[in-house]
Amino acid sequence: MKIYKFGGTSLGSAGRIRKVTDIISSALQEDELIIVVSAIHRVTDLLLEAATKACSGDEGYRNILGELEQLHTAIAGELFSIERSEEVKQSIHADLSELGDIIHGVYLLRELSDRSLALVLGFGERLSARLVSSFLQLNRIPSVYLDARELIVTDANYADARVETAETEKRIKKRLSVIDGVPVVTGFIASAPDGTATTLGRGGSDYTASLLGAALGASEIWIWTDVDGFFSADPKRVKDARVLPFISYAEAMELSHAGAKVLHPLAVQPALKAGIPLLIKNSFNPEVPGTRIEPCPRQPEIPALPVTGLTSINKIILLNMSGSGMVGVPGIASRLFSRLARHRINIIFISQASSEQSITLAINPLQAAKAKKILEEEFSSEIASRQIDPISIRRNLAMIAVVGNNMSGHPGVSAQLFETLGKNGINVIAVAQGANEMNISLVVDSHDEDKALNSIHESFFLSQGKVHLFIAGTGNIAKSLLRQISAHRVNLQQDHDLDVIVCGLANTRRMAMDDKGIDPQNWEETLAVRSEHTGIQGYLQLLRERNLHNTIFVDCTASAEVAASYPELLLDNISVVTANKLGMAGPWPLYRQIREAQRKSNARFLYETNVGAGLPIINTLNDLKNSGDKIISIEGVLSGTLSFIFNELRKGGRFSDIVRQAKDAGYTEPDPRDDLSGADFARKFLILGRELGFTLEYADIVCESLVPEELQGEMPVAEFLNRLSAVDGWYAAEIEKAAKEGMTIAYAGEICNGKASIGVKRVPVSSPIAGLNGSENIVVFTTERYRKTPLVVRGPGAGGEVTAGGVFADILRIASYLV
Ligand code: ASP
Ligand code: MG
Repeated sequence: MKIYKFGGTSLGSAGRIRKVTDIISSALQEDELIIVVSAIHRVTDLLLEAATKACSGDEGYRNILGELEQLHTAIAGELFSIERSEEVKQSIHADLSELGDIIHGVYLLRELSDRSLALVLGFGERLSARLVSSFLQLNRIPSVYLDARELIVTDANYADARVETAETEKRIKKRLSVIDGVPVVTGFIASAPDGTATTLGRGGSDYTASLLGAALGASEIWIWTDVDGFFSADPKRVKDARVLPFISYAEAMELSHAGAKVLHPLAVQPALKAGIPLLIKNSFNPEVPGTRIEPCPRQPEIPALPVTGLTSINKIILLNMSGSGMVGVPGIASRLFSRLARHRINIIFISQASSEQSITLAINPLQAAKAKKILEEEFSSEIASRQIDPISIRRNLAMIAVVGNNMSGHPGVSAQLFETLGKNGINVIAVAQGANEMNISLVVDSHDEDKALNSIHESFFLSQGKVHLFIAGTGNIAKSLLRQISAHRVNLQQDHDLDVIVCGLANTRRMAMDDKGIDPQNWEETLAVRSEHTGIQGYLQLLRERNLHNTIFVDCTASAEVAASYPELLLDNISVVTANKLGMAGPWPLYRQIREAQRKSNARFLYETNVGAGLPIINTLNDLKNSGDKIISIEGVLSGTLSFIFNELRKGGRFSDIVRQAKDAGYTEPDPRDDLSGADFARKFLILGRELGFTLEYADIVCESLVPEELQGEMPVAEFLNRLSAVDGWYAAEIEKAAKEGMTIAYAGEICNGKASIGVKRVPVSSPIAGLNGSENIVVFTTERYRKTPLVVRGPGAGGEVTAGGVFADILRIASYLV
């Protein structure tokens, strides 16, 4: 014999009840069944609302009663033929008019005791059980309606009654032995010894099913609900959550206590005692095997993970009692807990450190004020004498429970757990783990709940890690980056267990956001004007609200405003990869803020492409520094345009011709004076100088502009190019003079002794700088270890593809830290 319990959504409509009847009738071919039902979806809530409205004098309760009648009669109308349906509607009406009388009484008296409320709430199950039983009969399945008030005896604690198990077992056995046909039992309701109605607490029908199964020695108890079983995490919050095929009773208890709503926590106990397996099945999807809860559940072929599942309770408060007067004083905890118990305040979580200076409790927010008051009364004299501080309350918190049989004796679980949270900048406010090591519970800010669940889930359950990118800028670099990500994504998934997801993309006017990922191939179509959040601030605001785990902000703009947001992002523990120089080469205060934020943050900040695009310059420099080398000097050419001009000049061209040629080939900015001024070049040297630890502002870089003084006024580009030939002679002469000494000229930068300068310099013909080709960049590190032959990094230092490649590499560097 099996117990089949159907929850409210499984009975939510006539169609659903038909489906349930199919499930029952096919099961009956093999097994004897006892059916337990919940109230129809929403009905218990409506009953509660009606009663509370009535009690507060709100006549709205009448509408709710109307709604209840409408809901049940409509279903009856659909299920039954006209004559039969009249009969069923009659009985619904009779129940509801009894209910109406009771609630009217509540309305008149403006008084709603737990005792009256229990009676009211029980109507939902009475109505649904009658409907199901009648419909089974209509389908030629002999069936008997059974009111659980006859079967289950509890104490007189009406709202959340404790079951008297011995007496209950006796009654169940006796009553069920004389029944012919399939019993349909009302879940949730019971009666006190004097016969008045009580309830088993919200969601209590599962408990009813388990009590029946245990008393009757059922072979299995099936809980039919609207989800596929126990999940490794709440699938509404964690997209990748999966069904757990087997879990132990203990795990089921831990998970259901900690918020997984699949099963009433008390339902495990009777089944466990009687050794009966519990199954969670989806009535919307009966073919799916569901979750089997057993004493020793796992099949040998399923490797046991240390963590079975996680759940959360999203609204709790922490109540904290602390004070020096608590240390070494026995009896404080006892008083604390017994006072709360006497007022039926349920404690979800307890934590006390060994200093005994403070005890922290988590409770339901609805009981917060009451609990605080009670404790302030209890400890009033200690508070007055300052032995104990005033009781403090912290709100808007969530409790997350990480559960698993196999966590016990398995070192490293908590290390992995806290490391994951830490890297995502999730602050853990309180922690508790009992010595059974089955459950690590932690309290975090509500805002971080989903982020915590997702990052923990990914860390323990998934072989593949994710990083979520939010890109700013949709210019060349961003376009190349998107192309590269799209080309390489599958590879990263397969070979590196990493999924790089572009969740956001924005320029100054338009943005696109999608947690599941924007298609990197068709992103242009998804960009839309978001009136409510315009500009970078709006974008960043949305990114913060999303609060996804493993988030990386990728700056492909050249905007000072975007750069100014780095410190804040880092302090929010969002990692940043940037191709935009205006942060690291920005004003000194901004630079300092970024560095400081970086120190305080668990997030990473990488900017390799700020100097020499994809060339490994910053990384090389840091490797040298970190491994104890001393940098003597850095020289280099860090402008592709100026590199080109001087490389051509050395071959014997005329300066003004070469500039014109470079412009025509698209090597220069639209106005070549922007390159000739050396400003961008100087910024890169500013960054290198700061990297070496010097306090430098842009103005400290000695920068020689190649725009001749007499041509510095405003004039059109064409005129400028025409008049530039005035300096051709000077360059030719310089090269000639230098050549006499085995030297040549280059536009290069140098940092030495804390001084940075860029400009036209003489360099030996044999120097690597003199050997550059095309628009190549170069950096020459002379260090203690690389003194005789300097360390040289050379290659193309600009262009969308190589810059994007450098950005991508930085992203992957951060990903391998995060994941
Ligand atoms: N109908 C009750 C409730 O909504 C009991 C149950 O569904 O298990 O809480
Ligand atoms: Mg339920």
